[in-house]
Amino acid sequence: MKKSLIILLAISLFSCKESKEDNSQKQEIQEQSLFVIKNVNIIPMTVDNTIVENATVVIDNKKIVAINGSIPAGAKVIDGKDKWLIPGLMDMHVHTNADLNFRKNAPTQGATFFMDTQDVMTTYITNGVTTILELDGRAEHFGQRNEIAKGKVIGPRMAIAPVINGGDQNNGGRIVNTVSDARQAVRSIKAEGYNFVKVYSRLNIESFEAIIDEAQKQGLKVVGHIPDAFKGQTEKAFIPNFGLVAHAEEFSKQIRNQAKTKKDAQYFAQLAKRNETWLIPNLIAIVKIRDQVQSLDSIRLMETLKYVHPLLQDKWLTSNNYNKHSSPEFINYLDSLITFHKEVVVAFKDAGVPMVAGTDAGVSGVVAGFSLHDELELLVDAGLTNEETLISATRLPAEWLGIETKVGTVEIGKYADLILLDSNPLEDIKNTRSINGVFVNGTWLNKKKIESLLMKLEQQNESDKDKYEWAKRREF
Ligand SMILES: [Zn+2]
Repeated sequence: MKKSLIILLAISLFSCKESKEDNSQKQEIQEQSLFVIKNVNIIPMTVDNTIVENATVVIDNKKIVAINGSIPAGAKVIDGKDKWLIPGLMDMHVHTNADLNFRKNAPTQGATFFMDTQDVMTTYITNGVTTILELDGRAEHFGQRNEIAKGKVIGPRMAIAPVINGGDQNNGGRIVNTVSDARQAVRSIKAEGYNFVKVYSRLNIESFEAIIDEAQKQGLKVVGHIPDAFKGQTEKAFIPNFGLVAHAEEFSKQIRNQAKTKKDAQYFAQLAKRNETWLIPNLIAIVKIRDQVQSLDSIRLMETLKYVHPLLQDKWLTSNNYNKHSSPEFINYLDSLITFHKEVVVAFKDAGVPMVAGTDAGVSGVVAGFSLHDELELLVDAGLTNEETLISATRLPAEWLGIETKVGTVEIGKYADLILLDSNPLEDIKNTRSINGVFVNGTWLNKKKIESLLMKLEQQNESDKDKYEWAKRREF
């Protein structure tokens, strides 16, 4: 009893000290907008990508204003000696936790379960992920984006795409089964302020075509799944303005019950190439799924589990749908996907189809932020060079999102979304993890700040653990 009291006291003293430190750091963050990174090696990720050694980078009011110019007075100086500066990373396929309602909706009742936006965003920014594409967009995500824009939360830039699906309401997303409903759904999405549309697996062919056509008229690009209805006629899904396939798995699903060969991968690459459709390979999600189908220890022993919301930790461990369906056949099937998806990456690279990095963060086992570094390693393992892999997480996603004049490279005039690394990622892609500091939209997070943000999240999740049980979620 006494011992636990002492521990409790120690924790609360510690957290008190932490929060004071936090506040002073926040103040410093708010006051300081002029920075100089001295003697740093820049990997600009521009098309020619010439490394600028031993450079001075000046950041003022959120933007890079000079490279190798004079050092302005009053700047906070960051030592970049023997370090490497790359653009902030982008995750093009995420499912970010946001407020939701586990109970039946009543006219007077909104969300019943609330997510702290900073807690949701911390693992992105501390991992250098400064832009995300939310692929199950809801109104709550606009709320998160506003909190970030107001400076209440340090978080990534968010692009938000809501889902249009077919079949019945249980399938999730906005349900359309006719051409007119499909067109109306796109117009609503436009009116609500979304910038992209996500298409999903249960759409019928006419609705899929209508969505993509209407989206083009409305100036919205389309990303997503290849509906099951296209099985046996995959080529018909590749129509103009179907801009981005959400995972390599979309291709394996088209040929689910047959052997998957290199030739299939090459055929799909040709379809994408002809239609100028890009691909998010999304390799990590299937690897994580395979691991948890084999054993829940893969979740339980995960280094990064402690950063996941306790309710989801409980869900992943006690209500894991993947593990529930474990069988040797399922594991073999997932292994065959992992093999085939590598072939897809190679075929798409050979065909010159642009690929952008994405992780399905939010799927069980896929922890936001950390998972992007896993994905980069898998892309290299599949056959991309270190440089191609970095391009897939910086310049190319910026281009697809249409924000390439603002972010995606280290150049004068770009917003300061930057990662300072201790080691060169062009030599070893694992070095994207050697994070010394991150600029998020001009806000500098040094190593100490990154560690304290993660520590705070870990401690809070640990102390909240007993409050949340997935089985009792309807009570929330
Ligand atoms: Zn997804």
